[in-house]
Amino acid sequence: MTNTTAKVWFVGAGPGDPELLTIKGQSLIRQADAILFAGSLVSEAAMRWAKADCEIEDSKGMNLDAITGWLIEKAKQNKCVIRLQTGDPTLYGALIEMVQPLDAEGIDVGVVPGVSSAMASAAAAVESLTLPEVTQTVILTRTEGRTPMPEGESLKELARHHCTLCIFLSITLLKKVQTELMAAGWGKESPIVVVHKASWPNEEKIIHGTISNIREKCRAGKINSQAMIITSPTIGARQWPELKKSKLYDKDFSHRFRKAQKKQEIT
Ligand code: SAH
Repeated sequence: MTNTTAKVWFVGAGPGDPELLTIKGQSLIRQADAILFAGSLVSEAAMRWAKADCEIEDSKGMNLDAITGWLIEKAKQNKCVIRLQTGDPTLYGALIEMVQPLDAEGIDVGVVPGVSSAMASAAAAVESLTLPEVTQTVILTRTEGRTPMPEGESLKELARHHCTLCIFLSITLLKKVQTELMAAGWGKESPIVVVHKASWPNEEKIIHGTISNIREKCRAGKINSQAMIITSPTIGARQWPELKKSKLYDKDFSHRFRKAQKKQEIT
């Protein structure tokens, strides 16, 4: 069991389905005295393991100071405190903004990773984010909205790599996504998948389209929040008649755990 004395844990709740919370996250929820959860994005079902007297609060209406104030107050009462975050806490989660005030108070901090919505969305659509000789690179990014993008990180610049792009926080900016991908040389017919509420029981929606029609399709499906946009030269590979196979399972390829078959053994 993890020693939880006077510690604030930032726990990744995963993408929505409570069964995608890690065992470590679940074990901390069982021990917690106080849980502050990101209400708009974390399913309350994740709190089902909490003790009956655990103080549970939704941070939906709180600003950063209120959130850190709450965490500090409970930690100073020597409680085991959890900040339950959507997906993985290290992605678009204001983690460091919350950790700094805790550091200033000398409060110990721990982070438990979670299944990011990027991974859950690829899983929902049965897509591989990497494929041999197609792309071996995944970029996790967003388009510029109210948060400016650092230099060199515009979607147009990143898309020039023609690798897999998992685009967060951008479903209301699909027009911009289309324009920037095309400016980077992606054809209008390039496949794109949008997954809304990946892994949420009975709420998940998967929209398959192309750069040119995805906006209309999402509009028709009324998808305007909590959605992951994935575009990649690997999309749709499940239907391809031929694949370059991974070396990992190639019978003629030796690695640390398996020797290649000798040629004469192959009939
Ligand atoms: N830390 C989170 C991301 C938080 S930012 C993670 O690792 O997943 C919020 C953005 O994440 C949303 O705008 C959306 O793009 C994406 N997102 C979060 N949950 C999602 C889900 N269940 N399905 C699809 N996208 C999701």
